[in-house]
Amino acid sequence: MKNAPCNRCSKKFSEKDIYTIQQFQYRQEPNYEWTKEFLNNLEVGEWDSLCEQCMKFYAETSMSAWKKCSKR
Ligand SMILES: [Zn+2]
Repeated sequence: MKNAPCNRCSKKFSEKDIYTIQQFQYRQEPNYEWTKEFLNNLEVGEWDSLCEQCMKFYAETSMSAWKKCSKR
């Protein structure tokens, strides 16, 4: 049953496919504190439901922002 809407694109998906940014805790870099703050600025909270596509989008967005800022 598809009954959970994604916070970003509003697409409906089944509850077992929900992603949250808490998954980024397992990423080596950027570290989670940095990621969380970055995404909070984009108004994405730790408890927001995201579909797989939007999760990928935020993974890439935060990674490229991290690379830019670590080059400085
Ligand atoms: Zn989505």
